Amino acid sequence: MNTLIVACPSCKTKNKMAASKQHLSPRCGKCHTPLPMAGYAKPVELTDQDAAQVIREADLPLLLDLYSPNCGPCRTMAPVIDRLAHQFFGRAIIAKIDTSTNSLTARHYGIRGVPTLIFLKNGQVVDQIVGALPEDALVTKLNNFLRS
Ligand SMILES: [Zn+2]
Repeated sequence: MNTLIVACPSCKTKNKMAASKQHLSPRCGKCHTPLPMAGYAKPVELTDQDAAQVIREADLPLLLDLYSPNCGPCRTMAPVIDRLAHQFFGRAIIAKIDTSTNSLTARHYGIRGVPTLIFLKNGQVVDQIVGALPEDALVTKLNNFLRS
């Protein structure tokens, strides 16, 4: 699990939090000012150790990007996934997992190739996309998924 460091706009304290908690309206640990999370939004980087729990406990629809660092189309998708984390902040959890080091999760979802994008609601797979997708097509797909 990756963490985010967010500077408090009021007292400048640097707050550290688990990426999976970023949408839960976090406040500064020192002065309790609400933190301006939208500008810091990042994909939640999962591992075999925490993926099942984060997916089970997700209180928003979740998009999981299963990728491998050695795959060209995956590298093309990476900045798109980063932008989705900003664009859909507060509406969806954007997560990713490196399948080259986390094969259990890839096997659990029966992944045959990367990138594979999985759409989950309440821990259940609703839809999936195998292969890279243009950004506008993915945004449309994600919007439809959130409305469904
Ligand atoms: Zn503060």
